[in-house]
Amino acid sequence: NLDQAATVTAFSAALPSRVQDLDCDDNIGYFIKKKLRVWCRLPSGQWESGIIQSTSGDCASVLLSNGNVVKVSTVELFPANPDILEGVDDLIQLSYLNEPSVLYNLQCRYSKDIIYSKAGPVLIAVNPFKDIQIYGDEFIAAYRQKLLDTPHVYAIADAAYNEMMRDEVNQSIIISGESGAGKTETAKIAMQYLAALGGGSFGIEHEILQTNYILEAFGNAKTSRNDNSSRFGKLIEIHFSTLGKICGAKIQTFLLEKSRVVQLANGERSYHIFYQLCAGAPTDLKERLNLRMASEYKYLNQSGCLVVDGTDDTQKFSKLMKALDIARISKEDQEHAFSMLTAVLWLGNISFQVIDNENHVEVLADEALTNAARLMRCKSDELMLALSTHKIQAGKDKIAKRLTLQQAIDTRDALAKFIYASLFDWLVEQINNSLEVGKHRTGRSISILDIYGFESFQKNSFEQMCINYANERLQQHFNRHLLKLEQEDYEVDGVDWTKVDFEDNQECLNLFEKKPLGLVSLLDEESNFPKASDLTFANKLKQHLSSNPCFKGERGSAFSIRHYAGEVLYDTDGFLEKNRDPLHCDSIQLLSSCGSELLQQFASKMLKQFQMDFHKRSVGTKFKGQLFKLMHQLESTTPHFIRCIKPNSKQLPGMYEMDLVLHQLRCCGVLEVVRISRSGYPTRMRHQEFAERYGFLRLETNVSQDPLSISIAVLQQFNILPEMYQIGYTKVYLRTGQIGTLEERRKQI
Ligand code: ATP
Ligand code: MG
Repeated sequence: NLDQAATVTAFSAALPSRVQDLDCDDNIGYFIKKKLRVWCRLPSGQWESGIIQSTSGDCASVLLSNGNVVKVSTVELFPANPDILEGVDDLIQLSYLNEPSVLYNLQCRYSKDIIYSKAGPVLIAVNPFKDIQIYGDEFIAAYRQKLLDTPHVYAIADAAYNEMMRDEVNQSIIISGESGAGKTETAKIAMQYLAALGGGSFGIEHEILQTNYILEAFGNAKTSRNDNSSRFGKLIEIHFSTLGKICGAKIQTFLLEKSRVVQLANGERSYHIFYQLCAGAPTDLKERLNLRMASEYKYLNQSGCLVVDGTDDTQKFSKLMKALDIARISKEDQEHAFSMLTAVLWLGNISFQVIDNENHVEVLADEALTNAARLMRCKSDELMLALSTHKIQAGKDKIAKRLTLQQAIDTRDALAKFIYASLFDWLVEQINNSLEVGKHRTGRSISILDIYGFESFQKNSFEQMCINYANERLQQHFNRHLLKLEQEDYEVDGVDWTKVDFEDNQECLNLFEKKPLGLVSLLDEESNFPKASDLTFANKLKQHLSSNPCFKGERGSAFSIRHYAGEVLYDTDGFLEKNRDPLHCDSIQLLSSCGSELLQQFASKMLKQFQMDFHKRSVGTKFKGQLFKLMHQLESTTPHFIRCIKPNSKQLPGMYEMDLVLHQLRCCGVLEVVRISRSGYPTRMRHQEFAERYGFLRLETNVSQDPLSISIAVLQQFNILPEMYQIGYTKVYLRTGQIGTLEERRKQI
């Protein structure tokens, strides 16, 4: 993680608020004279506050609060905020906006269990990893009646609800943050608030809350970073009637991590549902399915982790059954779903025997094979053939060609992944049918987006690329929205907002999306070319994308992308296969011939896709399409942003790791909000007020006495550069730091 933090620092332009950059004469001298506190970064990387004693060259001696004196580079000095600003609700209240001040402010609050703060329009939520008594009916009522107005998810949900009712405009709550930061919990807290407000007599709000339970069982898993990690993205759209009562909902999911079904990292688990089913299925169901204990299945026992501390899978299963009932999934369909899950588990136990010296295999005819075939309702022989041979065209005839061990394993795993992912989609469809928005849509809805945040690991693959691409899109949405808020203010006051500098990430999006030479289309082209390899793909990227400033070719099969949140190094290893996501036609044929209705349905859906041209069904292009649809949907809403922060990687309460938090603040763009607001004209003062405060500084007094003319005269007299201010109809707009210069003069007189 420290490595990551370092890369990001190197890339993201640090906020320009070092002591030495402050806009006052002899800035450091001023801090020494006035004994003002500063933050300095010690060689250990830790931030400490202290007072500058002296400087020599680029080095300063700083007396720390603990009495020690350290020497640090002046580049590493940041002004600290006066005590009166300690732990403010909104980061924009800080006089000095710099990274250590922001970090310290959040830490102060966190240590008092105040987990929510604002950064302008954005809510920051720092995961407490323990229960805090700030939720439930009393708090909901207090926020509803405005008895409480401190930052809270409830306040955001309340604002969204009010704006929706008032303006009749759809709203969205966009939640982001890294794994374990608290996105899913935050989404549930927001839903809880909306359910309380919009509860009607039909109990649909109860049903909506229960769907979380089903989705988490099938789409969440224990990972090294979060015991209940969502392995898919989710948008839930809640619809309201003209009276503000919930009348329906719709769920969309994105990019489920299929590989988890067949392959697990040490210490991680597959999807919760498998363990819940094995532990909690009643005896008769177990017998019907021929279901064993989780420890007997290879897909589950490969990682040495079968239980999650503090969770009871048996109990969870009975809760799940209730949730399935509430979602009106029939008992019959529930049993079908359980059969599919068990079929997947038995598929994983199917093994192969090598029969010649070319590594060709044959399926071992054991109970795994019979059980899987029975649950899928196909003949064992057919399953055997589909897993150990592929039919190929030879002249007019088709002949069966034996598979090698690796090919057979891949075929089996692809089948298991396909069944699971199809089951997941089917379930979402069933839930949607049951929550169906009534015929009379009203245009009043609140969508809650819970989607994976920016990822940057030691090794980054296709999945990280998709996730980071999605985050680039969301970041652009975020920037544009913030800028729009600013613009509205300027426009009303006749200020030329085109002069607001603003760094867009369009260039990075072009890198992904340009046709025909963007990452997504180049990947499709290469995936469609039989002789291509991950290396030829990497070379193709280097050949075509090097002119884009966000792209850098690296050694071998690697490349890196400069994302808004930092540079990420990707390895193309496995990109082509993941993008093709192959399911052999023999497998599809097998599924179509199965007696299981679900499998037939899944197969016919797949067949339809197969008939489309490759580009339309490649994983990358499909994801891009989903993302476009999502953005299109979000663009017609008024957005509300929540950024979740994980304060430590141990999932423990009361622990605040500065570097980890800093890394996330940068990644999720909190510091960008600050930057954007600083790149505009953050100081705004009415002409009257400005004239009263600084008018007496004027030397030339016989000009016009109206406040606007006085303001202009003051600005000119003090040589405030024209690009540093704008004069609106009602207010003076100043760039960061300008007011300091005027204040200094004022004090001197
Ligand atoms: P992922 O991307 O892996 O899905 P996430 O951001 O959705 O992660 P959550 O599952 O919401 O993370 O949160 C992780 C854990 O943190 C929760 O299981 C819970 O224990 C704790 N947690 C999160 N938010 C809160 C909160 N507001 N109060 C108490 N505990 C919380
Ligand atoms: Mg989650």
